[in-house]
Amino acid sequence: MSILKNAVDSIALGLEDYETSIADERRIISCTRNIYAGILLLFKHKLSSLSDPNTDEALIKERVNPKVVDNKILWVGKGKKTVDYQNIKDRFESLSINVDWNRINKINDYRNNIEHYFSTSRHEAVQGWISDSFIIIRDFISEQLKEDPKDLLGSDSWTTLVAVHEVYEREKADCTSSLETLGFFSETILDAFVSYSCKECGSDLIYPDELNKEAIESQFVCKACDVTYSYEEIVSPAIEDHYYAETYLAMKDGGDSPIADCPFCGGAYLYEEKICAECGESAVHECELCGNDIPPEELSEDSLCGCCSHIMSKND
Ligand SMILES: [Zn+2]
Ligand SMILES: [Zn+2]
Ligand SMILES: [Zn+2]
Repeated sequence: MSILKNAVDSIALGLEDYETSIADERRIISCTRNIYAGILLLFKHKLSSLSDPNTDEALIKERVNPKVVDNKILWVGKGKKTVDYQNIKDRFESLSINVDWNRINKINDYRNNIEHYFSTSRHEAVQGWISDSFIIIRDFISEQLKEDPKDLLGSDSWTTLVAVHEVYEREKADCTSSLETLGFFSETILDAFVSYSCKECGSDLIYPDELNKEAIESQFVCKACDVTYSYEEIVSPAIEDHYYAETYLAMKDGGDSPIADCPFCGGAYLYEEKICAECGESAVHECELCGNDIPPEELSEDSLCGCCSHIMSKND
């Protein structure tokens, strides 16, 4: 069976699992496994179709060896083991095949979390995940495989994907517009709430129980599993997720982290915006003694940088 046929079948199976998961939530795990496998197979099909015919599908083989074929040296696939997620990513990057890796990472994380971390798996919670998968599948088939996604997937799979995607988009838009009625300390915090996912089930359909209030006084509900969160329970993890990439780069390459530990409450402090996302307090950013900027890790309840505060404590 061809890789492409396998990919299409795997996606169709995953969607059948999704339909049955209304009655049997255990089917959600096979739903995410099958659809995710289908996506990777679409990617492998692309790599396979780009491999030179004499190379035993070198581009999808984990190992390749140089071999003399007709007096030319070719890189030829070795063994049965095929490329994994990271190999596919590396090869796509070096072949300039563009896909939305942020969205694919999100899909991969959810699939992993649903098997290992989430305490509940809900039919409703998987809709956002299918919607993200739909965007990847549709765009990859039309942009990279140059085929019509509806024709390739078949109308049953296509109709289900479009329907789930549209329902999810509408519900997400409702959640976002109700979050927008709240008063937040800053726009960044609103953005972080909009992209926050429920830690119990992974759904990002989080909405406030009442409109037009201060966010800090609000309760937040997960539409998929009905768990309720306070502002404090969501805000710091949401900000950490929001700045995950920047914080990682700052740690790796040096430079200031975009978030600090709030000197007043210990929550996530937005260094650029000079405000704590959790308690709304602002620390002094310029040292009262030496006039230097106080770096994120030296912010404190008083108005001195780490160095001056050390000197002052010695003089006491
Ligand atoms: Zn939930
Ligand atoms: Zn604080
Ligand atoms: Zn100072």
